[in-house]
Amino acid sequence: MAEGTTTDDENIPRYEPNNLNSQVIHIESFRKLWLEALPPDLYSYDTNPEEVEDAKLAELLELPVETLNELKHVCSVDSLKSHPDDSTVDQNLVPPDPKLACLRLRKRRQDYRETLSRDTLGRHELYFNEMESSHKGMLPEDPDTVIPEGELILSFNVIYPVIFERFKHVRAHQTLQVFGSQKLTELRDALCCVTDLQVFGEFSNIPDATPQHISKDHFKSAFFFFEGVFYNDMRYPECQDLSETIRDWAKTHGFPEYTTEKMEDTTFNQLRMRIGYPYYYCHQGDCEHLMILTDMRLIHPDDCRDRSRYPLLTHKHRVLTRKCCVCHLYISRWITTKDRLAPMDPCLFCDKCFRMFHYDTKGNKLYDFEAYVYVDPGVFN
Ligand SMILES: [Zn+2]
Ligand SMILES: [Zn+2]
Repeated sequence: MAEGTTTDDENIPRYEPNNLNSQVIHIESFRKLWLEALPPDLYSYDTNPEEVEDAKLAELLELPVETLNELKHVCSVDSLKSHPDDSTVDQNLVPPDPKLACLRLRKRRQDYRETLSRDTLGRHELYFNEMESSHKGMLPEDPDTVIPEGELILSFNVIYPVIFERFKHVRAHQTLQVFGSQKLTELRDALCCVTDLQVFGEFSNIPDATPQHISKDHFKSAFFFFEGVFYNDMRYPECQDLSETIRDWAKTHGFPEYTTEKMEDTTFNQLRMRIGYPYYYCHQGDCEHLMILTDMRLIHPDDCRDRSRYPLLTHKHRVLTRKCCVCHLYISRWITTKDRLAPMDPCLFCDKCFRMFHYDTKGNKLYDFEAYVYVDPGVFN
């Protein structure tokens, strides 16, 4: 067989229960194999998946569809009642002394929720629930931007950068869905990280003159590292191949030779990847994120079908914001060092406290210290 061609066998994910990842799969071939194997009505937007399933089940049970519908009605959850037909019960209310373990757990959670501030809880829970479900089955206004049937949806978990020691072991920072024919650069642009928002420089003498440009505007290079290939973002003239040092190092240390491709010329369909395997995203020179492809499947009618909403953010981990060390109320915007009057070094301040503490009414600096702009990781909440 010629080099570079793949066998069908190679493109079918084989889940290895003892390991955590699948074998390498060529994404486009995986899609084609599924499309060949499935009858079109299974992934078509026009079919009602429930109807198809019902028809199949009726066939399997050798029953007419009407009988199946009757069975469904009789065995439905709605007919499971612990109260008389004419009375109504509040299903959110757990009885005071529940016997079922699941109800006890629910009661414990309910009791805990009651101890929390109503305002905080409502806002965040609402937001999370909306994020999960707000794009379900969404259609675009412009019919030309519908994602065609038979596209692949890939889910990526992107982990916090390893620069935050305490974030190493928590769950993913963001979960994003992309579709197969999207470019890698589209995912790169959708990834948000505080490192991109940093402003460099010491501003204690000119706190009003902090530049408007953030790191993302200055340093545009980045790469993904998938299966031995560095995909570099080379869209702008100032972009550099950040992988060069790593490739040179690898060459002298007996690693196989790694190649490079352009991120903007590559779609996800062209990639070969493993599901569950930790890959690498690097930007701002050394802000390193692990990213894991967790799922790969054909698009179905319940997915958001609006092309313009992809990469679609489906989960974002909420971080506690770090408050000003003086008022403990507002989110920090400044970080000072060599600050002899501050309670700690480095020390975080909100804008108001920072100015009241360090400058007189005319804006003159009261004593020597260094001040840097602080971007809180919680800004993405
Ligand atoms: Zn980062
Ligand atoms: Zn403050």
